[in-house]
Amino acid sequence: MKLAVLGPPGSGKTTQAELISKHCGLTHIYMGRLLRLEAKGDSPFAERIRRYLDAGLLVPLDVVHYILEREIGHVKNGYILDGFPRTLEQALDLDVLLQERDEHLDAVIYLMVNDEEIMRRLVARGRNDDTPELIQRRIEVFRTESQPVIDFYRTKGILVPVNGVGNPLEVERRILDELALRRLPISKCCERP
Ligand code: AMP
Repeated sequence: MKLAVLGPPGSGKTTQAELISKHCGLTHIYMGRLLRLEAKGDSPFAERIRRYLDAGLLVPLDVVHYILEREIGHVKNGYILDGFPRTLEQALDLDVLLQERDEHLDAVIYLMVNDEEIMRRLVARGRNDDTPELIQRRIEVFRTESQPVIDFYRTKGILVPVNGVGNPLEVERRILDELALRRLPISKCCERP
């Protein structure tokens, strides 16, 4: 099973991707973490990535494409993409990459959380890029850049909107129920290579 999870910053994408990946035996591919790791290293991309992360802006497509292709290439079972795609350009790029591999996304989970709740959660999390101005910037980036991605997957018929407000296990249950309704394999035994 191939999944992606979308949602504004602080919507619980990573918490849910972690829970769902464990539950369903999927590899968790977390673009934000991969970018932060890459930025710390001495790859040719490091300095460029740092500039975007520090500004709360999206890293250019050539960099995220390179990282995604490398990570997907290592996966033997299914996976869940966390924080990718975030723009329509990335969604179209992903489509081509998956077609080349004779794969497709089975479902795209969209975690819905209101702005006040996002601000409350992120201020409490306190990561480097979780200052009020950067949070506001990232929420705006999400609203402008990611809305077309949501519409794109809705049109394809694979968008799974889920209420992201509640404790993590409640939200996980909602997601698993939605996947089961769509007859997707939510038990680990189905996801071995
Ligand atoms: P996250 O850990 O998902 O909150 O992402 C943190 C930061 O990583 C974002 O503010 C972006 O600067 C960068 N980032 C994460 N995912 C992507 C992506 N799909 N495309 C471009 N930049 C990204």
